[in-house]
Amino acid sequence: RFDVLVVGGGPSGATASVYAARKGIRTGIVAERFGGQVLDTMAIENFTSVSYTEGPKFAAELENQVRQYDVDIMNSQRGATLNRDEETGVISVGLASGAELQSRTVVISTGARWRSMDVPGEAEYRNKGVTYCPHCDGPLFKGKRVAVIGGGNSGVEAAIDLAGIVSHVTLVEFDAELRADQVLQRKLRSLPNVDVLVSAMTTEVVGDGGKVTGLTYTSRTTDESHSLDLDGVFVQIGLLPNTEWLEGTLELSPRGEIVVDEAGRTSLPGVFAAGDCTTVPFKQIVVAAGAGATAALSAFDHLIRTDVP
Ligand code: FAD
Repeated sequence: RFDVLVVGGGPSGATASVYAARKGIRTGIVAERFGGQVLDTMAIENFTSVSYTEGPKFAAELENQVRQYDVDIMNSQRGATLNRDEETGVISVGLASGAELQSRTVVISTGARWRSMDVPGEAEYRNKGVTYCPHCDGPLFKGKRVAVIGGGNSGVEAAIDLAGIVSHVTLVEFDAELRADQVLQRKLRSLPNVDVLVSAMTTEVVGDGGKVTGLTYTSRTTDESHSLDLDGVFVQIGLLPNTEWLEGTLELSPRGEIVVDEAGRTSLPGVFAAGDCTTVPFKQIVVAAGAGATAALSAFDHLIRTDVP
């Protein structure tokens, strides 16, 4: 039986397992894909103390550091169920493989995935102009023309943010109106280098084989097809937390994020959560890593206050 079982092997889970193992307690980590979203990332330039690295290198270093400790790594395994025994407080995590693991505390760090548009060219030009993270990639498009897809809060925030860096932003919204808060919409419309298109369905990301050169969209009011010349496309149509397996077990927000307090506690005693799968407002590596440390320290705190069942 583990003292701390971490489910998820991205920056938050890796950090949680290092913090737990350094307390000398029995630590395990289950990960579907060790490294998480950073495996799909090109350049990382905003993790302090590392001026520049690349996603796969960062992921390998996360794993190397975890391997320096006595952590039981179970890679390519997916958590499928979570149960807490009311009497003993022991938590069981059932794996998709059928195995069951038991632990006195669990840290969930299963991350999230970006919702994609699923149009031709999007996957082909991913990281070649198609991006999902304005905080990460905005500076790469300094002085260039970009589109932001999505008129919810994240899309409009991204457009406002990017308008200060790039030469021109076109915000493309599928619905007849933007869904972002009015205050954000007012700010957006006050910017001189932003155009807003509504009732516009993106139909293709266009490129020259090496990088994005534009996109095409169809007006849903006139049915006409149009094209835009662009250097980048920021897709902001939702971040889906990997928490489907926890529905009915833990308190989730309407977006499916695990509701956590400032110490990473969830609605179940002994179960903590960290990173992009939680209600933390910002989804970034450094934020997720910090939350992983918090959750592991909270788990340790829980252990020293609880009798061993
Ligand atoms: P994740 O990285 O999503 O890791 C989740 C882990 O849980 C993975 O190991 C996954 O396989 C595993 N998992 C999922 N479900 C299960 C399950 N049921 N059972 C077991 N394991 C499971 N942030 C930055 O700060 N800077 C950047 O430059 C940057 N660039 C980015 C570029 C791209 C293309 C993307 C997609 C994201 C980028 N981000 C960047 C965001 C950053 O990657 C995330 O904020 C960060 O990885 C979140 O870490 P996490 O540990 O919470 O989750």
